[in-house]
Parts: sequence; structure tokens; C-alpha cells
Amino acid sequence: MFERRKTIQVRVGNLLIGGGAPISVQSMTNTATVDIAATVAQIHRLEEAGCDLVRVAVPDEASAEVLGRIKSQIHIPLAADIHFDYRLALMAIEQGVDKLRLNPGNITDPDKIKLIADKVRERGIPIRIGVNAGSLDRRRYGPPTAEALVKSALDEVEILESRGFGDIVISLKSFDVPITIDAYRFAAEKTDYPLHLGVTEAGLLWQGAIRSAVGIGALLAEGIGDTLRVSLTAEPEEEAKAGIQILKALNLREHGFTIISCPTCARCSIDLIDMVKEVERRLEQMKDLPAVTVAVMGCVVNGPGEARDADVGIAGAQDGGVIFSEGRAVRKVAAARMVDELMAEVHRVAECKVQRQKHQAPERIE
Ligand code: SF4
Repeated sequence: MFERRKTIQVRVGNLLIGGGAPISVQSMTNTATVDIAATVAQIHRLEEAGCDLVRVAVPDEASAEVLGRIKSQIHIPLAADIHFDYRLALMAIEQGVDKLRLNPGNITDPDKIKLIADKVRERGIPIRIGVNAGSLDRRRYGPPTAEALVKSALDEVEILESRGFGDIVISLKSFDVPITIDAYRFAAEKTDYPLHLGVTEAGLLWQGAIRSAVGIGALLAEGIGDTLRVSLTAEPEEEAKAGIQILKALNLREHGFTIISCPTCARCSIDLIDMVKEVERRLEQMKDLPAVTVAVMGCVVNGPGEARDADVGIAGAQDGGVIFSEGRAVRKVAAARMVDELMAEVHRVAECKVQRQKHQAPERIE
């Protein structure tokens, strides 16, 4: 496990960010916020995908006015994304949101920021100072270098701190991955506030997930980062899933299933690619699945080793495969039965894990 940077802890509704709390995954809705039913439905899908905190855009008063009704119908903390108009921030606070995101590039008047700071301090609501390369105040800070992004954030921190407010999270996002990494490293040297990681405007699912994994993953591996969002031109659920995958890849979160599958080669004795797709499809349908690793391997070279190390696995063999469960080879199955038998074993092991977890008290915030 990586040694994580020590940061101040901030509370967002029932979620803790920083100060050693688990790294949380965020996303943002793309429905019209005023469409309460559509927004709530999308947030419910995000909750199901494992999202810990959701942000909604507040482009106008009508959107600000429905925040309380949205919040009352969801189960994860709600953050309001405010740009340009400080009055929308004040309205969002009145609606009971759990967090505000302010962009220093477009609410620039210190007196307005102080007004917001006084209000959030009263209510115990944190603020994320969300600097974005695309909206950096270039007249003041110049081009969006790592140093410029950090300077913009720290100037806003100073204004908030001048009002005695310190429930702050900082993000410093750019499309450029090296600039993003440098900015967060620089910020980690300069401040103890928790950092929200992200590579912004990262693109469609495939490109965006890779750019985000490289940028966010590099920082997490250095112990930097307390919460994250993978920004994708895709449905928000994909963002949550990608964020969780990044954490899982670094052993920073246990969540649902993980498939271990070989890349296939001439030794492969089963129709592995289609089989893995089918196994993934069936695993995605399993609700409330505990953390479980499932290995699907093509032959006896690496198959038995990986299958034995996973919770459940199958290694291709002549005319079928050998099922492994919790470290032991349990039976040989014919090719036509491989997926069904593997999934039956997954169900059995998952149920055992659930029973064991019932004896462990979950961590709760009162
Ligand atoms: Fe090839 Fe076997 Fe390795 Fe799969 S496990 S890549 S089939 S050698």
C-alpha cells in the first residue's frame, strides 16, 4: 500500500474526504438539473455503480431552486457546481447542498467570495476550489502552467481563510496529463488541504479512461489524492466505474468483481474472449456482489496459478476447463458447461463472503 499524504479532513454530508479517509469517487450528472426525475434517476444509477458523491451543474436560479428536492431523494452527498453568479451559490447553500464547487476563474470578486465563505462557515458546508486550465484567469495568471493553476487555487484559499473558513478541497485539472501531475505535486508541497484528482476534458470512454488512469494513477501511486473524478464524454456511470477501476488497480478499494483474464495465444484451448465477455455480462447482473476476483485463463501455462490465486477461476484444458475455488481445483467441466459452472461457483463463494462480512461492523458516520 502506498503511504498517503497527510491532509486536513473535510466532511461532506456523511462522507469524509482527506485525513486518511478512503479515497472517494465522484461524478457529475449530465441531465438538465431542473428535470428532477431524470436527475434523480441518473444519481440512483450512479449510486448503484459505486459513486460516493455527485455534483450537479447550477446554471440558473431554476436549477438552484430544485436542489433541495433532488437531495431529499438521493442517498449520496450532493455538490452544487457554481460558475459566474455568486447568488446561485447562496441559493444552493439555502437548499441544503452538502458541498459547493467554485471556479476561481469565473467568480473573481473577493467580496462575493467572502459572502459565500461566511454562509458556508455558518452551515458547515465545504467548498472545492476547482481550478480548470480552460477557465484560468489568463490575464492574471498567464498560460495554464502547473504553477499558474496552483497559484490561482491558493489565492482563492487565502480569501476563504481570511474569513476563518478552512473546509476546503482543491482540484487543479488540465487536459494535459503532465501539467496535471505537476500541478498536484506542486500543490501537495504547498498545502495540507485534501486534493480532488482529475484530468479534465479527457475525451470519449477509451481515450478518457486511459488518460485519467495515467494521470490520476501516477499521483495516487505517490500518495497524492483524497478523492477523484474521471471526466469522460460518456454516461456518468462510466465515470464512476472508471474511477473505481483506477482505485482497484492500485489496491486502494475493494468493490464488486475483478476479472483476471489472459491475453490468449496459440496455446488457448477454449473460446476465451467470448467466454470472458459472457462472464462479465453475468457478473454485472449480480446485485450487491462482495469484492470477488474471477480468473478466466486459456491453458495450463499460467491458468492454474492465476485461477488458484483468484477467489474463483477456470483454466482451459483439453475439451473443457478445470474450475478452481478459493485456492483449490474442484472439478473438470465440459466446454459447454464452463460458464454456467464457473458462475455457480462465483455465487457460492460470494454468498460465503457475504455471510462472513455480516460479522464485521460497517464503518458509519453519525
Ligand atoms: Fe496463452 Fe495460456 Fe498464457 Fe493464455 S494462459 S496467454 S492461453 S499461454
